[in-house]
Amino acid sequence: MSGIVVVGAGQAGFQAAASLREAGFAGPLTLIGEEAQPPYQRPPLSKAYLAGKTDARGLLLRQESFFAEHAIAHRRARATGIDRAGRRVELADGDSLAYDHLILATGTRNRALPVPGATLSGVYGLRSLDEADALKTALERAERIVVVGAGFIGLEFAAVCAARGLSVTVVEAAPRVMARAVSPETSAAFRAFHEAAGVTILFGAGVSAIEGADGRVASVALADGRSLPADLVLVGIGVVPNQELAQAAELPVRDGIEVDPFLATADPAISAIGDCARFPTRFAAGLPGGDRVRIESVQNAVDQGRCLAARLTGRPTAYDAVPWFWSDQGPRKLQIAGLGSPDDASVTRRSGAGFSVFRFRDGRLSAVESVDRPADHMAARRIIAAGRSLTPEQAADPAFDLKALAT
Ligand code: FAD
Repeated sequence: MSGIVVVGAGQAGFQAAASLREAGFAGPLTLIGEEAQPPYQRPPLSKAYLAGKTDARGLLLRQESFFAEHAIAHRRARATGIDRAGRRVELADGDSLAYDHLILATGTRNRALPVPGATLSGVYGLRSLDEADALKTALERAERIVVVGAGFIGLEFAAVCAARGLSVTVVEAAPRVMARAVSPETSAAFRAFHEAAGVTILFGAGVSAIEGADGRVASVALADGRSLPADLVLVGIGVVPNQELAQAAELPVRDGIEVDPFLATADPAISAIGDCARFPTRFAAGLPGGDRVRIESVQNAVDQGRCLAARLTGRPTAYDAVPWFWSDQGPRKLQIAGLGSPDDASVTRRSGAGFSVFRFRDGRLSAVESVDRPADHMAARRIIAAGRSLTPEQAADPAFDLKALAT
């Protein structure tokens, strides 16, 4: 028996391996990961870790001893090819591993900024612990910081910098923050939070070049001719899925590795989970891209790891978890349940601290964005999972009992 091989020792790959053992899988199990560290959580990299509130040990998904105790071989190597006919994964060190089932959990990588100077010293991305460490060191001596992209990671980073009293300018091409992910109401609130904390945000601003002196970044040139002095630049303009292994093995890919409702690729011996997988879900109904999505979140990575482990141990179920996500930006906590679209209608519910924006698509509740309202978020997850809805008037009425609808 060759056993199960997982490529990618991140959130999804780790979860699949751990859940396989939990479910009683007793065969050989290998987790291949190209990073030096044991599997760790990425969300704190742009939050508590960068702010010095947790150390690298605090990021680990399990202590190193867990892997030996559960007979999970953690192989530090880069997978470079899949021989589907021979059922083997090829590694960069020349070795290859046989599999009965192969799980691709290769995640994503930072999208590169396509302008001159993007690789100058002092220009960073933030995806891995190594990148977070480099950024942490650079922050010790940085004075003028420019963040390219007002998405979740850029804004979380900007909030950490502002809390340290550093000068931060965020450059965003769109007219509002987190424009692809949240409603105009939530964007406006977060813009105000960040500006009140001292962050400058420039909208409709395209970067034309990063300019340097002696190989180091000195300024960021904008398309409208402005130049922003900078000694540290963080580029946070999204990610691209690591789908090349699947593509080279002639498995269908389209902004992610295509999988069926059971997370299987076109080859029944290969599955894909987490940030790299594109899957069908009822929660995406009515979205401009159709009912297939690729989701970048801890929830999705963990739930898909569990769902796949259940199938591989004889309990197949279609993946049907309600999507949810969080982002901590300074003292503000944003939680999102469901999948909203930029065109969805919005209704805001306010009472006491925080607020929630209820989004509607084709007359049905599609997503709820809660800011410092964890009870709304928990109720929304249950309401959306159950396929229930409410009217915009009910959503806006603070007296309407959300909890009752959720149970
Ligand atoms: P990853 O965790 O990226 O793991 C993929 C692994 O595969 C990587 O270690 C990669 O090096 C490895 N790999 C790729 N190709 C190969 C190969 N050929 N051979 C060997 N190894 C390979 N989500 C939230 O829900 N809330 C948050 O607040 C949040 N904050 C985040 C903050 C940051 C800074 C980042 C980077 C992400 C954040 N996320 C957040 C997203 C979340 O971390 C991801 O959705 C999650 O890690 C996805 O898990 P994954 O296993 O699919 O991919």
